[in-house]
Amino acid sequence: MKYRRVKGCYDLYPHAEEQWRDPLMWNLIEGAARSVSLAFALSEIRTPAFEYTDVFLRTVGASSDIVSKEMYTFEDRAGRSISLRPEITAPVLRAFIENSLHQSGKTRLFYIGSCWRYDRAQKGRYRQFSQFGIELIGSHDATVDVEAITCLLEFYRTLGLKGTKLLINSIGDLDVRHKFGEALREYFTPHKENLSEDSKRRLFENPLRIIDSKDECDRKVSQNAPTITEFLTTQQKEHFAYVCETLDESGIIYEISPHLVRGLDYYCDTVFEVVAEGDAQAQNTLGAGGRYDGLLQQMGGPDLPGVGFATGIERVIQHLLKQEDAKLQEVPEFFFIGLNEMCKRKLLPFVTDFRRKKKASILHHGSNQLKKALSAADKSGAQYAVILGESELEKGIVKVKNLISREEEEISFNRLCEISQEFEKQHGR
Ligand code: AMP
Repeated sequence: MKYRRVKGCYDLYPHAEEQWRDPLMWNLIEGAARSVSLAFALSEIRTPAFEYTDVFLRTVGASSDIVSKEMYTFEDRAGRSISLRPEITAPVLRAFIENSLHQSGKTRLFYIGSCWRYDRAQKGRYRQFSQFGIELIGSHDATVDVEAITCLLEFYRTLGLKGTKLLINSIGDLDVRHKFGEALREYFTPHKENLSEDSKRRLFENPLRIIDSKDECDRKVSQNAPTITEFLTTQQKEHFAYVCETLDESGIIYEISPHLVRGLDYYCDTVFEVVAEGDAQAQNTLGAGGRYDGLLQQMGGPDLPGVGFATGIERVIQHLLKQEDAKLQEVPEFFFIGLNEMCKRKLLPFVTDFRRKKKASILHHGSNQLKKALSAADKSGAQYAVILGESELEKGIVKVKNLISREEEEISFNRLCEISQEFEKQHGR
């Protein structure tokens, strides 16, 4: 008998046939997630793979697709209902409350972990998948909404991910959504026959999901549907306007998408998605998030608002691999070449200094011939070669060659320590 992995799952192994399943790729993405989180002063949180089912029923919502159709739920041997986590926000908030993290001021969190959903398995949609996400707890400020969005975009930028579009909307609170749901029911009922089977069911259970359905028939019928914006209170409209203005001020390009409502019950006010442009597939959403004021209190915790996002690691890697110029491995930034033993010895303390400044650096140990050394520098993927030969040593200078533009300049040997900052300034990095 041959054993096979469970449908909708995948193995990661060295030199995997499909490159996105090579653990090297995963280390790269997870490394970027950690370094961006560090820059945003976020602390890591890890929660168990499963929770009592109630954690999701009361938060994600019993009528959401995730809970109603996709959760892996089972009874443990003592007859308790347990579910594999289909998302990580609710478990993080459960842990936040249970461990009184607000008392220790740990209100800025990130996580990396697996989720499980019994969804239709296809490329970009798996039954076990991984998310990187953050939660910023404790502030109503619209600036924090923008901070969460910025963190997601910075993560993509760090990876050199291109061709993405930020969509945002405001979905008010439960009261607004209730009124909006009624208006949608009224609008869709005469068109019921033209809706997909899923949306016929949604019409009674959760009509908001019809307007962000990816089904072609649903999209056609939805075109003239009312939008939630008409139902927002003045305060909610102001919050959203502030978010948009702050995005403008930060130079972040976005599109207001009035039909973006998100599938989880706990969101309120700002919601956002980052989609892969030019990718019409249903799986083009790379990451998504929003505000969830009231959720912590509803879960028995303090009355603190929050905002967060989650992005799927599989989809990010797959999207990255479509780019020809994708930066797929950690490469050094500086490649130091000493053209004899004395020059190498002179360079070593500077290499250590660069490394301390977090500038990934290599000291060349191969041939002392410049041509061969430069070819090794090119192969390493480094951006700059720092060259020290006998004549440079005499003059007290080093040559710095930009390995991309091939431009070369001479920099005083004494100032070598400052090169990393100089380059940062000159190249605006
Ligand atoms: P959601 O919690 O549905 O908003 O999902 C957040 C992100 O997780 C999505 O934007 C996807 O990148 C990823 N994701 C959600 N469901 C799946 C899945 N079944 N397979 C792979 N990635 C997923």
